[in-house]
Amino acid sequence: MAVERIGVHESTAIDFPFEVFADEFADLDPALVPIRDDPGAGADPASCDAFVTFTHQPQLLDADPEWIHTTLAGVEAFPLDEYESRDVVLTNSTGLHGDSVGDTALGLMLLLARRLHDFVANQQQHRWAFPDWDEGFTLPGERVCVVGLGTVGSAVAKRCSALEMDVAGVQRSDDSVAGVDEQFHPDDLSAAIADARFVVLCVPLTDATERLLGAAAFETMRDDAYLVNVARGEVVDQDALVDALRDETIAGAALDVFEEEPLPEDSPLWDFDDVVVTPHAAVANRDFYLDVADLVRENLQRLEAGEEPDNRVV
Ligand code: NDP
Repeated sequence: MAVERIGVHESTAIDFPFEVFADEFADLDPALVPIRDDPGAGADPASCDAFVTFTHQPQLLDADPEWIHTTLAGVEAFPLDEYESRDVVLTNSTGLHGDSVGDTALGLMLLLARRLHDFVANQQQHRWAFPDWDEGFTLPGERVCVVGLGTVGSAVAKRCSALEMDVAGVQRSDDSVAGVDEQFHPDDLSAAIADARFVVLCVPLTDATERLLGAAAFETMRDDAYLVNVARGEVVDQDALVDALRDETIAGAALDVFEEEPLPEDSPLWDFDDVVVTPHAAVANRDFYLDVADLVRENLQRLEAGEEPDNRVV
Protein backbone atom coordinates (compact mmCIF):
# COMPACT_ATOMS: atom_id res chain seq x y z
CA MET A 1 0.00 0.00 0.00
CA ALA A 2 1.41 3.43 -0.94
CA VAL A 3 0.20 6.38 1.13
CA GLU A 4 0.92 9.83 -0.25
CA ARG A 5 -1.60 12.03 1.56
CA ILE A 6 -3.13 11.52 5.00
CA GLY A 7 -6.23 13.58 5.72
CA VAL A 8 -6.72 14.49 9.40
CA HIS A 9 -10.42 15.00 10.08
CA GLU A 10 -11.45 17.94 12.24
CA SER A 11 -13.12 15.64 14.79
CA THR A 12 -9.56 14.92 16.07
CA ALA A 13 -9.49 18.52 17.39
CA ILE A 14 -11.01 17.12 20.60
CA ASP A 15 -7.68 15.31 21.14
CA PHE A 16 -5.11 17.69 19.58
CA PRO A 17 -4.79 20.61 17.13
CA PHE A 18 -4.03 19.60 13.55
CA GLU A 19 -0.82 21.66 13.48
CA VAL A 20 0.91 19.94 16.44
CA PHE A 21 0.03 16.51 15.06
CA ALA A 22 1.20 17.41 11.56
CA ASP A 23 4.52 18.68 13.01
CA GLU A 24 5.28 15.13 14.15
CA PHE A 25 5.26 14.05 10.49
CA ALA A 26 7.35 16.94 9.14
CA ASP A 27 10.24 14.58 8.31
CA LEU A 28 8.04 12.00 6.54
CA ASP A 29 6.94 11.76 2.98
CA PRO A 30 3.17 11.53 3.16
CA ALA A 31 1.72 15.01 3.45
CA LEU A 32 -0.78 15.59 6.26
CA VAL A 33 -3.73 17.76 5.29
CA PRO A 34 -6.70 18.98 7.33
CA ILE A 35 -10.17 17.70 6.39
CA ARG A 36 -13.10 19.86 7.42
CA ASP A 37 -16.82 19.23 7.25
CA ASP A 38 -17.19 22.48 5.32
CA PRO A 39 -15.99 21.20 1.91
CA GLY A 40 -14.53 24.61 0.94
CA ALA A 41 -12.43 24.94 4.14
CA GLY A 42 -10.05 21.96 4.05
CA ALA A 43 -8.47 19.53 1.61
CA ASP A 44 -10.55 17.37 -0.73
CA PRO A 45 -10.98 13.92 0.91
CA ALA A 46 -10.76 12.38 -2.56
CA SER A 47 -7.12 13.50 -2.73
CA CYS A 48 -6.18 11.36 0.34
CA ASP A 49 -5.25 7.66 0.56
CA ALA A 50 -5.65 7.49 4.33
CA PHE A 51 -7.31 9.35 7.19
CA VAL A 52 -6.92 9.93 10.91
CA THR A 53 -10.24 10.67 12.59
CA PHE A 54 -11.89 10.64 16.00
CA THR A 55 -15.43 9.62 15.02
CA HIS A 56 -16.71 7.60 12.07
CA GLN A 57 -17.23 9.95 9.10
CA PRO A 58 -19.20 8.55 6.13
CA GLN A 59 -17.60 11.07 3.75
CA LEU A 60 -14.16 9.65 4.53
CA LEU A 61 -15.29 6.15 3.67
CA ASP A 62 -16.91 7.51 0.48
CA ALA A 63 -13.51 8.87 -0.57
CA ASP A 64 -12.44 5.22 -1.00
CA PRO A 65 -9.23 5.34 1.11
CA GLU A 66 -6.88 2.45 1.80
CA TRP A 67 -6.78 3.01 5.54
CA ILE A 68 -8.56 4.91 8.34
CA HIS A 69 -7.14 5.28 11.84
CA THR A 70 -9.35 6.35 14.75
CA THR A 71 -7.99 8.00 17.88
CA LEU A 72 -10.71 6.13 19.82
CA ALA A 73 -10.29 2.76 21.53
CA GLY A 74 -14.00 1.84 21.42
CA VAL A 75 -15.26 1.42 17.85
CA GLU A 76 -18.85 0.41 18.56
CA ALA A 77 -20.13 3.42 16.56
CA PHE A 78 -18.17 2.42 13.44
CA PRO A 79 -20.11 0.36 10.81
CA LEU A 80 -17.48 -2.37 10.64
CA ASP A 81 -19.32 -4.34 7.92
CA GLU A 82 -19.11 -1.34 5.62
CA TYR A 83 -15.37 -0.96 6.18
CA GLU A 84 -14.98 -4.65 5.43
CA SER A 85 -17.13 -4.66 2.30
CA ARG A 86 -15.29 -1.60 0.97
CA ASP A 87 -11.93 -3.19 1.78
CA VAL A 88 -10.81 -0.28 3.98
CA VAL A 89 -8.36 -1.10 6.77
CA LEU A 90 -9.55 0.33 10.11
CA THR A 91 -7.13 0.65 13.05
CA ASN A 92 -7.93 2.03 16.52
CA SER A 93 -5.98 3.49 19.42
CA THR A 94 -6.35 0.71 21.98
CA GLY A 95 -3.19 0.58 24.05
CA LEU A 96 -2.76 4.34 24.36
CA HIS A 97 -5.27 5.18 27.09
CA GLY A 98 -3.98 3.20 30.07
CA ASP A 99 -2.12 5.93 31.95
CA SER A 100 -4.63 8.73 31.32
CA VAL A 101 -7.81 6.77 32.04
CA GLY A 102 -6.06 4.80 34.80
CA ASP A 103 -5.06 8.05 36.54
CA THR A 104 -8.56 9.47 36.11
CA ALA A 105 -10.27 6.36 37.51
CA LEU A 106 -7.95 6.34 40.52
CA GLY A 107 -8.47 10.08 40.99
CA LEU A 108 -12.24 9.60 41.00
CA MET A 109 -11.95 6.86 43.61
CA LEU A 110 -9.76 9.06 45.80
CA LEU A 111 -12.13 11.98 45.31
CA LEU A 112 -15.10 9.96 46.55
CA ALA A 113 -13.26 8.26 49.40
CA ARG A 114 -11.65 11.47 50.68
CA ARG A 115 -14.81 13.61 50.07
CA LEU A 116 -12.85 16.00 47.85
CA HIS A 117 -15.97 16.66 45.75
CA ASP A 118 -17.67 18.05 48.89
CA PHE A 119 -14.76 20.40 49.52
CA VAL A 120 -14.86 21.75 45.96
CA ALA A 121 -18.65 22.24 46.16
CA ASN A 122 -18.27 23.98 49.54
CA GLN A 123 -15.49 26.23 48.28
CA GLN A 124 -17.75 27.50 45.51
CA GLN A 125 -20.08 28.76 48.24
CA HIS A 126 -17.23 30.03 50.50
CA ARG A 127 -18.32 27.41 53.02
CA TRP A 128 -15.90 26.03 55.64
CA ALA A 129 -17.34 22.61 56.56
CA PHE A 130 -15.80 19.47 58.01
CA PRO A 131 -17.26 16.15 56.75
CA ASP A 132 -19.31 14.01 59.13
CA TRP A 133 -17.00 11.81 61.23
CA ASP A 134 -17.93 8.62 59.36
CA GLU A 135 -17.96 9.93 55.78
CA GLY A 136 -14.31 9.81 54.73
CA PHE A 137 -12.34 6.61 54.28
CA THR A 138 -9.00 5.56 52.81
CA LEU A 139 -8.31 3.25 49.87
CA PRO A 140 -5.72 0.80 51.31
CA GLY A 141 -7.48 -2.43 52.27
CA GLU A 142 -10.69 -1.56 50.40
CA ARG A 143 -11.83 -3.99 47.72
CA VAL A 144 -12.16 -2.84 44.11
CA CYS A 145 -13.61 -4.89 41.27
CA VAL A 146 -12.23 -3.91 37.86
CA VAL A 147 -14.50 -5.16 35.07
CA GLY A 148 -12.43 -5.52 31.88
CA LEU A 149 -8.67 -5.98 32.24
CA GLY A 150 -7.25 -4.70 28.95
CA THR A 151 -5.21 -1.53 28.51
CA VAL A 152 -7.47 0.57 30.72
CA GLY A 153 -8.51 -2.06 33.27
CA SER A 154 -4.99 -3.35 33.84
CA ALA A 155 -3.79 0.25 34.39
CA VAL A 156 -6.57 0.74 36.96
CA ALA A 157 -5.70 -2.57 38.66
CA LYS A 158 -2.00 -1.67 38.79
CA ARG A 159 -2.74 1.66 40.46
CA CYS A 160 -5.20 0.14 42.95
CA SER A 161 -2.69 -2.57 43.83
CA ALA A 162 0.02 0.07 44.38
CA LEU A 163 -2.33 1.67 46.92
CA GLU A 164 -2.65 -1.70 48.68
CA MET A 165 -6.27 -2.22 47.72
CA ASP A 166 -7.70 -5.71 47.43
CA VAL A 167 -8.14 -6.06 43.66
CA ALA A 168 -10.68 -8.32 41.97
CA GLY A 169 -10.86 -8.39 38.17
CA VAL A 170 -13.29 -9.67 35.53
CA GLN A 171 -12.54 -10.76 31.98
CA ARG A 172 -13.28 -13.78 29.76
CA SER A 173 -9.71 -14.98 29.33
CA ASP A 174 -7.77 -16.71 32.11
CA ASP A 175 -4.62 -14.69 31.46
CA SER A 176 -3.31 -13.36 34.74
CA VAL A 177 -3.06 -9.58 35.07
CA ALA A 178 -0.47 -7.82 37.25
CA GLY A 179 -2.00 -6.36 40.40
CA VAL A 180 -5.18 -8.49 40.29
CA ASP A 181 -5.52 -10.63 43.42
CA GLU A 182 -8.62 -12.57 42.40
CA GLN A 183 -9.88 -13.06 38.87
CA PHE A 184 -13.45 -13.85 37.80
CA HIS A 185 -15.16 -14.91 34.57
CA PRO A 186 -18.06 -12.64 33.45
CA ASP A 187 -20.47 -15.50 34.31
CA ASP A 188 -19.47 -14.88 37.94
CA LEU A 189 -19.92 -11.10 37.82
CA SER A 190 -22.27 -11.13 40.83
CA ALA A 191 -19.68 -12.80 43.01
CA ALA A 192 -17.02 -10.41 41.73
CA ILE A 193 -18.92 -7.22 42.57
CA ALA A 194 -20.68 -8.38 45.76
CA ASP A 195 -17.95 -7.40 48.23
CA ALA A 196 -16.43 -4.49 46.36
CA ARG A 197 -16.35 -0.92 47.71
CA PHE A 198 -15.67 0.24 44.13
CA VAL A 199 -16.79 -1.32 40.85
CA VAL A 200 -14.82 0.17 37.96
CA LEU A 201 -16.11 -0.49 34.43
CA CYS A 202 -13.38 -0.80 31.76
CA VAL A 203 -15.02 -3.09 29.16
CA PRO A 204 -15.71 -2.30 25.50
CA LEU A 205 -19.37 -1.85 24.54
CA THR A 206 -20.47 -5.07 22.83
CA ASP A 207 -23.66 -7.12 22.69
CA ALA A 208 -22.36 -9.00 25.75
CA THR A 209 -21.58 -5.89 27.80
CA GLU A 210 -24.58 -3.69 26.92
CA ARG A 211 -26.45 -3.04 30.18
CA LEU A 212 -24.07 -5.38 31.99
CA LEU A 213 -24.90 -3.53 35.20
CA GLY A 214 -28.61 -3.12 35.89
CA ALA A 215 -31.02 -3.28 38.82
CA ALA A 216 -29.95 -6.80 39.84
CA ALA A 217 -26.28 -5.84 39.91
CA PHE A 218 -26.97 -2.74 42.02
CA GLU A 219 -28.94 -4.91 44.46
CA THR A 220 -25.96 -7.24 44.64
CA MET A 221 -23.48 -4.42 45.31
CA ARG A 222 -22.82 -3.19 48.84
CA ASP A 223 -24.93 -0.24 49.92
CA ASP A 224 -21.70 1.69 50.61
CA ALA A 225 -20.28 0.86 47.17
CA TYR A 226 -19.42 3.33 44.40
CA LEU A 227 -19.65 2.74 40.66
CA VAL A 228 -16.93 4.24 38.47
CA ASN A 229 -17.72 4.10 34.75
CA VAL A 230 -14.91 5.03 32.36
CA ALA A 231 -16.05 2.55 29.68
CA ARG A 232 -19.26 3.46 27.83
CA GLY A 233 -22.60 4.73 29.13
CA GLU A 234 -24.55 1.86 27.61
CA VAL A 235 -22.66 -0.70 29.73
CA VAL A 236 -24.93 0.52 32.53
CA ASP A 237 -28.74 0.60 32.63
CA GLN A 238 -28.84 4.32 33.40
CA ASP A 239 -32.46 4.39 34.64
CA ALA A 240 -31.68 1.54 37.03
CA LEU A 241 -28.61 3.45 38.21
CA VAL A 242 -30.69 6.55 38.95
CA ASP A 243 -33.15 4.37 40.91
CA ALA A 244 -30.30 2.73 42.84
CA LEU A 245 -28.86 6.15 43.74
CA ARG A 246 -32.27 7.51 44.77
CA ASP A 247 -33.03 4.43 46.87
CA GLU A 248 -29.49 4.44 48.32
CA THR A 249 -29.01 0.88 47.09
CA ILE A 250 -25.45 2.04 46.35
CA ALA A 251 -23.60 5.02 47.83
CA GLY A 252 -22.63 6.97 44.73
CA ALA A 253 -20.90 7.02 41.39
CA ALA A 254 -18.26 8.71 39.27
CA LEU A 255 -19.36 8.73 35.65
CA ASP A 256 -17.31 9.78 32.64
CA VAL A 257 -19.67 8.24 30.06
CA PHE A 258 -23.43 8.26 29.56
CA GLU A 259 -26.18 6.75 27.42
CA GLU A 260 -26.63 10.20 25.89
CA GLU A 261 -23.68 12.58 25.53
CA PRO A 262 -23.47 15.42 26.34
CA LEU A 263 -25.45 14.49 29.44
CA PRO A 264 -28.78 16.35 29.03
CA GLU A 265 -29.20 19.35 31.32
CA ASP A 266 -32.29 17.83 32.94
CA SER A 267 -30.63 14.49 33.79
CA PRO A 268 -31.08 13.64 37.49
CA LEU A 269 -27.46 12.45 37.51
CA TRP A 270 -26.22 16.06 37.73
CA ASP A 271 -27.87 16.59 41.11
CA PHE A 272 -26.88 13.73 43.41
CA ASP A 273 -24.44 14.83 46.12
CA ASP A 274 -22.39 11.66 45.68
CA VAL A 275 -22.31 11.50 41.90
CA VAL A 276 -19.38 13.05 40.07
CA VAL A 277 -19.96 13.79 36.39
CA THR A 278 -17.05 14.21 33.97
CA PRO A 279 -17.56 14.95 30.24
CA HIS A 280 -16.16 11.76 28.61
CA ALA A 281 -12.75 13.26 29.24
CA ALA A 282 -11.02 10.53 31.26
CA VAL A 283 -8.50 10.30 28.45
CA ALA A 284 -7.68 14.03 28.17
CA ASN A 285 -3.89 14.30 28.10
CA ARG A 286 -1.77 16.89 26.34
CA ASP A 287 0.80 14.29 25.20
CA PHE A 288 -1.79 12.02 23.58
CA TYR A 289 -0.91 13.31 20.09
CA LEU A 290 2.62 11.95 20.47
CA ASP A 291 1.34 8.44 21.16
CA VAL A 292 -1.12 8.61 18.26
CA ALA A 293 1.64 9.93 15.96
CA ASP A 294 3.93 7.01 16.96
CA LEU A 295 1.17 4.49 16.27
CA VAL A 296 0.22 6.05 12.92
CA ARG A 297 3.87 6.27 11.87
CA GLU A 298 4.50 2.63 12.83
CA ASN A 299 1.38 1.48 11.00
CA LEU A 300 2.24 3.54 7.96
CA GLN A 301 5.56 1.71 7.72
CA ARG A 302 3.88 -1.64 8.24
CA LEU A 303 1.20 -1.05 5.63
CA GLU A 304 3.74 0.24 3.11
CA ALA A 305 5.81 -2.90 3.73
CA GLY A 306 2.71 -5.08 3.17
CA GLU A 307 2.64 -6.10 6.85
CA GLU A 308 -0.30 -6.34 9.26
CA PRO A 309 -0.83 -3.03 11.10
CA ASP A 310 -1.06 -2.84 14.90
CA ASN A 311 -4.56 -2.48 16.38
CA ARG A 312 -6.29 -3.65 13.21
CA VAL A 313 -10.05 -3.76 13.75
CA VAL A 314 -11.05 -4.50 10.12
P1 NDP B 1 -8.97 -3.52 25.56
O1 NDP B 1 -9.44 -4.16 24.31
O2 NDP B 1 -7.51 -3.37 25.80
O3 NDP B 1 -9.56 -4.29 26.84
C1 NDP B 1 -10.86 -4.75 26.92
C2 NDP B 1 -10.97 -5.69 28.12
O4 NDP B 1 -12.35 -6.03 28.32
C3 NDP B 1 -10.21 -6.99 27.98
O5 NDP B 1 -9.65 -7.33 29.23
C4 NDP B 1 -11.31 -7.98 27.61
O6 NDP B 1 -10.87 -9.27 28.01
C5 NDP B 1 -12.45 -7.45 28.46
N1 NDP B 1 -13.77 -7.89 28.02
C6 NDP B 1 -14.28 -7.92 26.77
N2 NDP B 1 -15.54 -8.38 26.80
C7 NDP B 1 -15.82 -8.65 28.10
C8 NDP B 1 -16.97 -9.14 28.77
N3 NDP B 1 -18.07 -9.50 28.10
N4 NDP B 1 -16.92 -9.25 30.13
C9 NDP B 1 -15.80 -8.93 30.81
N5 NDP B 1 -14.67 -8.46 30.22
C10 NDP B 1 -14.69 -8.33 28.89
O7 NDP B 1 -9.68 -2.10 25.60
P2 NDP B 1 -9.21 -0.80 26.40
O8 NDP B 1 -8.83 -1.20 27.77
O9 NDP B 1 -8.29 0.01 25.58
O10 NDP B 1 -10.59 0.02 26.42
C11 NDP B 1 -11.76 -0.55 26.98
C12 NDP B 1 -12.92 0.37 26.70
O11 NDP B 1 -12.79 1.53 27.49
C13 NDP B 1 -12.98 0.89 25.26
O12 NDP B 1 -13.62 -0.04 24.40
C14 NDP B 1 -13.76 2.16 25.41
O13 NDP B 1 -15.14 1.88 25.30
C15 NDP B 1 -13.44 2.59 26.84
N6 NDP B 1 -12.55 3.76 26.85
C16 NDP B 1 -13.01 4.92 27.40
C17 NDP B 1 -12.22 6.04 27.42
C18 NDP B 1 -12.70 7.30 28.06
O14 NDP B 1 -12.22 8.37 27.71
N7 NDP B 1 -13.62 7.23 29.00
C19 NDP B 1 -10.88 6.04 26.80
C20 NDP B 1 -10.46 4.75 26.33
C21 NDP B 1 -11.28 3.66 26.34
P3 NDP B 1 -11.50 -10.62 27.42
O15 NDP B 1 -11.52 -10.45 25.92
O16 NDP B 1 -10.59 -11.68 27.94
O17 NDP B 1 -12.85 -10.70 28.00
